Amino acid sequence: MTETLLRGRTLSFLRWPDSVDDHAAYRYEEDGGLLLRDGTIVAAGAYADIAARAGSCVQVIDHRPHLLLPGFIDAHVHVPQMQIIASYGAELLDWLNTYTFPEESHFRDAQHGRRIARLFLDEMVRQGTTTVAAYCSVHRQSAEAFFAEAHDRNMLTIAGKVMMDRNAPDGVLDTPQSSYDDTKALIGEWHGRGRQHYAVTPRFAITSTPEQMEMAGALMREHPDLHMQTHLSENHAEIAFTQQLYPWSKDYTDVYEHYGLLGKKSLFGHCIHLSERESDAMSETGSVAVFCPTSNLFLGSGLFDYQRYRQREKPIRIAAATDVGGGTSYSMLRTMDEGYKVIAQNGEKLTPFASFWQMTLGNAQALSLDDKVGTLDAGTDADIVVLDSRATPGMRLRMERVETLAEELFLLQTMGDDRAIREVYVAGRPAKSTMEMAAA
Ligand SMILES: [Zn+2]
Repeated sequence: MTETLLRGRTLSFLRWPDSVDDHAAYRYEEDGGLLLRDGTIVAAGAYADIAARAGSCVQVIDHRPHLLLPGFIDAHVHVPQMQIIASYGAELLDWLNTYTFPEESHFRDAQHGRRIARLFLDEMVRQGTTTVAAYCSVHRQSAEAFFAEAHDRNMLTIAGKVMMDRNAPDGVLDTPQSSYDDTKALIGEWHGRGRQHYAVTPRFAITSTPEQMEMAGALMREHPDLHMQTHLSENHAEIAFTQQLYPWSKDYTDVYEHYGLLGKKSLFGHCIHLSERESDAMSETGSVAVFCPTSNLFLGSGLFDYQRYRQREKPIRIAAATDVGGGTSYSMLRTMDEGYKVIAQNGEKLTPFASFWQMTLGNAQALSLDDKVGTLDAGTDADIVVLDSRATPGMRLRMERVETLAEELFLLQTMGDDRAIREVYVAGRPAKSTMEMAAA
């Protein structure tokens, strides 16, 4: 039995940090050790204690002086949009029609889907992201390609084939029945296989007929343990069009509510313009609002009111995500940097501890995966990111003035990107260095 012992400064959160002085919210070891066996963290703590528990054949990897954190989690991202990220000049609905739908039509070709799935997961690893909740294209083969690639790498993912049967070109449309049949087949083939999780994925209310929304609801009733992911309340034109398509609805959220799509494993991308009633409905059902700051700024959609959602009498569960290709960076560090600025526009601040909580344990809780990922606790999966706070000359210079862990984390978030990711472990295996070696 091979054991690996990682040595470095370990940081893992226990709960939401109330302030920069809330040191009880996390566990930090200046000289920490993580003992990994069969893809799992079997012991975590002070290096000396953990080293004493390791077997004689243990392989020690010394990452000092770098920081070891749980791998980052991206709660909303579109795999088939890698070749339209950074497309100029559109708001949501134009952006979908001009760039997204034509691009996603290429995924009819299974070989293209396999190539992009491979490059997508390579990119996630490069950025320190070890778990994603991903949208594939409407084509069943795009989801098959994605799951096969993630399964090969033993990466924990949530993904689904998009369901969409109207208001888009023929090349990206299914039908209510085919979307149901394809989803059913994908669930059977992939859900619970290794670390793969299926999410029922109606793109959003605009691109589904009421018949298809019924099918999505039926799938959730038949498989109540599944995730559901969609978009909600991103942009004013989108909200108005939805009201037109579902004239009986109280509001946009009511459409999803009507078809039984709200719940603890339901992930709603954006949620920028929710009314009080909608916010209450989200809260009461335990539904998750997914904050996608770079996307919301890029498409001019609006400012997600993170602190208000958190602090209202009926708080809303929140995740954070890149939303690539509407989002402009694959990096969760870049994402939370922009998130900090969006929250500042609302007159609030997000502490560096809260940011790193969000990228790790916070997102794991929002995805109901915190028993597996998002922490460095013994018994959880060994998905780990190694961060270098001196990755660039500018960061190295700034580090000369850094005195606290909070300051260091804030520097990593504000100036860090893929260059700050030294190594990534996926289920205990060094994935980043292995990938780079294979490419060299
Ligand atoms: Zn999206």
